Amino acid sequence: MAQNIVYHPGYNVSFFGLEKLHKFPVDKFVRIQKTLQQNGFDKTRFLSPNFDEKLVFKHLTEKYIQKCSNSKWLAVCINLDFIKLFPYRLIKKYLCNPLLFASCGTVAAAFAACEHQRSVNVGGGYHHAWFDGGEGSCVYPDIPIAIQELREHKQIQRIAIIDLDAHQGNGTARAFPKDEDIFLVDIYNDIPFPSDLEAKKYTALDIPIKGKSSDDEYLGLITDRAFPAIEEFAPQALFFNAGTDIYEKDPLTEIQISADAIQKRDKMVFEFAKKINVPIIMTLSGGYHKDSAAIVAESIVENFRGKDS
Ligand SMILES: [Zn+2]
Repeated sequence: MAQNIVYHPGYNVSFFGLEKLHKFPVDKFVRIQKTLQQNGFDKTRFLSPNFDEKLVFKHLTEKYIQKCSNSKWLAVCINLDFIKLFPYRLIKKYLCNPLLFASCGTVAAAFAACEHQRSVNVGGGYHHAWFDGGEGSCVYPDIPIAIQELREHKQIQRIAIIDLDAHQGNGTARAFPKDEDIFLVDIYNDIPFPSDLEAKKYTALDIPIKGKSSDDEYLGLITDRAFPAIEEFAPQALFFNAGTDIYEKDPLTEIQISADAIQKRDKMVFEFAKKINVPIIMTLSGGYHKDSAAIVAESIVENFRGKDS
């Protein structure tokens, strides 16, 4: 059995109940895990990452590490204004540690994918963070960190990222300016946040979609534009940032893709990775509607069932 579904209860944020003020559904990860268990995914399929904050911090700039320990800055970055009143040690314990934990999970998932061809971290995908900055509730750049760890330990250099979260993956782009061995495909909803013009320069294939899109049009962009470009780049691994905030009922975005089309999207990306024979690492990223947990769980059930997946 492949142990390639990475999760730990430590991913779940709690801040004395006040975390419910955040737009992110805080029980999402645990609901996904429970649904997977109900569908026959037993403990042999789950991989618990180690909590190792040094693994994360060693990739960040000194200046950014300082910023990350400032309550006022964290309040802005995480979009929870009231936390600016709390000392950093409390914010660290209840809010930062879960994000650090999930970042370690993306690294663990990257290594698991090298062994089992596919993996999913039931969390992570903080694509508005880079090694020297962060915004939009993304503090630690988990995908760029996992990429650097793969490069260091697995002789993998050329890596593609397909970012299909509804928001622009500006942090991931900023993490690798002018790196010819990174290929970022970013298909996102062209909405006011983050509108990062600098990041567009570092995105190999930048596809903003204005307003609403039909399911066919959206899926067509992935098959007709993203896949051929990635295949031509010939990566050694593929990160799939599988945000579900493209969902038609998501409160933060306008693109309005159906739940069925999200299932099709995920299946297509996994099949594509299999076709070009590269390990694929899925991260969850955004998804702010209560249905998001069920949509993600269904996708994992579909793409990870069977003894070889
Ligand atoms: Zn998003």
